[in-house]
Amino acid sequence: MSENNVVILWLIIGMMAGVIGGFIIALYLRGQNLIDKLEQRAKMLSTVVDTAVDAIITIDKSGSIVTVNPAAARMFAYRSDDMIGHNVKMLMPEPFHTDHDDYIANYLATGKRKIIGIGREVSCRRSDDSEFPADLAISEIPGNGLARFAGILRDRTEHEDFLNRLQKQQESLAHVNRLGTLGEMTAGLAHEINQPLTAIATYAQAAQRLLDGAGDNRNQLKTALVQVDEQAHRAGAVVRRMRALAKGEQTERKFCDLHQLIEDIKPLITLDARHRGVAVIYELAPENTDVFVDKVQIQQVMLNFVRNGIDAMDSVPAGKRRLIISTEVIHDHQLKTAVRDFGHGVSNESVDGLFHPFFTTKVDGMGMGLSISKSIISAHGGTIGFEHPSGLGARFWFILTTHKKERANE
Ligand code: ADP
Repeated sequence: MSENNVVILWLIIGMMAGVIGGFIIALYLRGQNLIDKLEQRAKMLSTVVDTAVDAIITIDKSGSIVTVNPAAARMFAYRSDDMIGHNVKMLMPEPFHTDHDDYIANYLATGKRKIIGIGREVSCRRSDDSEFPADLAISEIPGNGLARFAGILRDRTEHEDFLNRLQKQQESLAHVNRLGTLGEMTAGLAHEINQPLTAIATYAQAAQRLLDGAGDNRNQLKTALVQVDEQAHRAGAVVRRMRALAKGEQTERKFCDLHQLIEDIKPLITLDARHRGVAVIYELAPENTDVFVDKVQIQQVMLNFVRNGIDAMDSVPAGKRRLIISTEVIHDHQLKTAVRDFGHGVSNESVDGLFHPFFTTKVDGMGMGLSISKSIISAHGGTIGFEHPSGLGARFWFILTTHKKERANE
């Protein structure tokens, strides 16, 4: 081989060595880059795991704990070292404690998932044996590493506490509501029972006067006592109906003539009116006024209207106190019953509150009469309201449907 050829050969070898060297260096750098990236990822992952608020625990296929993050140690009140290498069932109360080995074995044998990839709420056990609820999500770790499953646990204690507090609040709210209803019912009862009680007292006083008086007053005495008896029964009936109303039950309804219903309470109306110097005028419709109602309840509404009308005329000069009780068939079998007075009327500020419980403008008022009346009329499928009549005073009314046909079929 000539000297030239030897030089060329060395040049080629040198070049090839350069290329191969460069290639090796490039490969090395690339590998280094990859390793750097992997390291960076691993660091990032471990930072995330270490700072996570949720507990993250990995286990091998026999259930032994491989890694735990600081949150897991805190949550279960262990040192990490006291957890690693132990079976994860140490963190579970019964029956999960006993069954856990079977869960893993079953999954590994059959591939059937009970919890993996699904997640559920579980009970956990701390180092001091106290238990707490947690949400658990498990995933299977791919590859041939030691750790086979990763579990993420979120402590639900605060959430459960919050739910318990919420439930307690709701219970106490319901209790307050019941008390509110009870308060309304008690006030309502006190209000409604007042009418028959006042009547009883008035008739009893009249009876006493008759007894003290000269001459034979037996007949008048008897009338007064019959009224006492009637009003006592009426008081009982009012209590029963108020209870039914508060419970939302239907009371006993019958077909009856509304005019007869008014006729039956005329003695009470007269008693009240005469006592307060009020003249009562009846303007009753000539048409059919048969309605399907609980008589005592509709009488309660009438008496409330009457009592309010009389009260509203307290400051009206004696000779001008008038109350007009009227019935009128308006349309489609709608019977409007109204009580009109010539008192101070309803002010604009009072309009919205009128039918609400405890709304009153009277010094000794209870504010239950109109709200009870509204409940009664609504329960009968009717409507209730008031209007400013031309001139002085107010007109309170309710509308009920008349039932001629049904009565004829009875
Ligand atoms: P109470 O009579 O105990 O106040 P009500 O529920 O019967 O309770 O009446 C509520 C309020 O409605 C009364 O305080 C009064 O302000 C007003 N009101 C009721 N009827 C009349 C009326 N005929 N004229 C003027 N205001 C009335």
